[in-house]
Amino acid sequence: MSTPRIEVDLHKIRQNTQTVMKRLAARGIGTTGVTKAVCGHPAIAQAMLDGGASGLADARLINVQELRKAGISGPITLIRTPMLSQADQVVQVCEASYNTEMAVIAALAAAAIQNDKVHDVILMVEMGDLREGIMPEHLAAMSQQVMEMPGVALEGIAANFACLNSAAPDAAEMTAFSDLVSETEAKCGTSLQTVSGGNSANLPWAFGGHSTGRINDLRLGEAILLGVDPVSGNPIAGMYDDAFVLVAEIIETDTKPAPHPVNSADPALVKRRSAPPCKDATRLILAIGHQDTDIQGLSMPAGNVFIGATSDHLVLATNLPTLGVGAEMRFQVNYSALMHAMAAPDVNTTLLCDQTSPQTRGAKTASKRLALI
Ligand SMILES: *Cc1c(COP(=O)(O)O)cnc(C)c1O
Repeated sequence: MSTPRIEVDLHKIRQNTQTVMKRLAARGIGTTGVTKAVCGHPAIAQAMLDGGASGLADARLINVQELRKAGISGPITLIRTPMLSQADQVVQVCEASYNTEMAVIAALAAAAIQNDKVHDVILMVEMGDLREGIMPEHLAAMSQQVMEMPGVALEGIAANFACLNSAAPDAAEMTAFSDLVSETEAKCGTSLQTVSGGNSANLPWAFGGHSTGRINDLRLGEAILLGVDPVSGNPIAGMYDDAFVLVAEIIETDTKPAPHPVNSADPALVKRRSAPPCKDATRLILAIGHQDTDIQGLSMPAGNVFIGATSDHLVLATNLPTLGVGAEMRFQVNYSALMHAMAAPDVNTTLLCDQTSPQTRGAKTASKRLALI
């Protein structure tokens, strides 16, 4: 198998989706699987659907086009406001999109009419993250405009938290969002199909005891893919946090004199050197670097200490003298490392699949693994 590569355990992604989907379903909330961190990888998207995601969402049109090319036919929503220049392509591959700008919605409507379609619009409202969103006081008027515009239909209202700003939403904020949805419906005399309350950062709120109000959907990427709460970084109980492993190959081993100076120009990386390597530690160079992933987002395997990295090299000190040139090392990844590795042209994606039939999916049988690519 070629290195560097990302190994993807589809079984774990399916299981993670199923676990979170069941817990949310018990609270009246559906799960939309977000594929942007894996660049719309069709097999990973399919694992989300097999695990019970009611639909898929991605931020980039090109990823949605990949999914369609691979034959994924279920609902796919564009969760980043469409570019005006892409309106025509958006209505062709997406059932729905998240929107904040009337000019874009008008272009989607015109494109939908030309393509003999009706495009569903979900209005994103600003609830404190200060990234995208319509100000709450403008929501009712804009909803009304969308409802009156031929070519588009108002499918729902959504909010997003903890992306630009790191605060997870609390119960009071979620109640405020719910109330805003009900108010908007009353003002516009309509009943909305989708009320999407946020992303993986909403899970502590969703699993808490309080009312989930009007929210009937969450858009989940990181929680499903990595099994962690993005705000605290803590693993989510019952979920796999190792569905992805980044594998790199050792290209040099030596014993250059310790201590190994860390490039002080990069204080963030200096911090990562958790313990000084022992005097007779061996230095390893791996064929992976900043061009392949977010090196800061890799967990060092036990017995290894991070020394430094450049565009194409990762330097470690190891207490495991058995590792030689040509040996592979395996790293756990965080969201940023995963996202960059999946987008890097030199990092291959290797799928580990179990061979359980659709009927026995989720059964705890030992399954034979098969490398596809
Ligand atoms: C990225 C994104 C998500 C998914 O976020 P995760 O933290 O990966 O669950 C949901 N909604 C929007 C608008 C996003 O941009």
